[in-house]
Amino acid sequence: MYRFYYESENKTDKNIVVAGEDAHHIKNVLRLKIGEKLILCDGNGYEHLCTVADYDTQNAVNCEIIESRESETELPVKIVLYQGLPKKDKLELIIQKAVELGAFEIVPVAMKRSIAKIEDDKSEKKKMQRWQEIARAAAKQSERGIIPQVGKCLTFKQALQRCTEDKALICVAYENARGMSSLAEFAQAVKEAPKGATIAVFVGPEGGFEESEVEMVKENGGLSVSLGKRILRTETAGLTLLSILMYELETNNGMLS
Ligand code: SAH
Repeated sequence: MYRFYYESENKTDKNIVVAGEDAHHIKNVLRLKIGEKLILCDGNGYEHLCTVADYDTQNAVNCEIIESRESETELPVKIVLYQGLPKKDKLELIIQKAVELGAFEIVPVAMKRSIAKIEDDKSEKKKMQRWQEIARAAAKQSERGIIPQVGKCLTFKQALQRCTEDKALICVAYENARGMSSLAEFAQAVKEAPKGATIAVFVGPEGGFEESEVEMVKENGGLSVSLGKRILRTETAGLTLLSILMYELETNNGMLS
């Protein structure tokens, strides 16, 4: 069934009005007829099964709510990927894939060995808009119940501060961590975390972490985890970690088992 996100101000008790590009898509591309069903999602974990009630002259689509429910595609915990700012447009791929794998938020972090720099406010704003648009498109494609946010680029210290505020369970992917038992230990803690808990995962940029950064994460209660004996590229590392956690979380809930 077709799915769209709507803005909260466009919803009343029984109806939701879809306007703009999505309305154009529903009316002129998909050509949904009056009475046909679609799903409208609030982007905050809640969705409504609706029927097309009518098309108005302003090119908006008026939809009637038949049934409302919590989205079924969200992980029980909020995984935030703190990604060492990579070169060029690599972050775009990372955002897209992290959203597909269930990340709650992606936060770029300027690390000691990040080569890329966010130049100024104006270019950061432009980049953030583009990143958010990629997250939105990926969320729609993968039928997410939320639109994951791409946060403002933080310093390492700020990132750790946020983890403390969120009372997050923290891990740092580190190629020098020995054996995979710490990853198993972390995955177990994530499985046991209460619904809605925040899980923070740190991944270094192309040049990796400086040891002092790994130490800082550890001092803040983070666990350093190995992702196997091979060195992964930065874009592979986060996605591997997210895949493992997603598997652990969803088998735990009996969804994949
Ligand atoms: N310092 C190294 C590797 C950087 S890889 C070098 O330059 O050769 C980029 C990031 O991916 C690392 O900082 C780490 O977070 C993650 N990573 C890559 N391989 C990993 C592995 N085998 N285990 C855990 N993390 C890994």
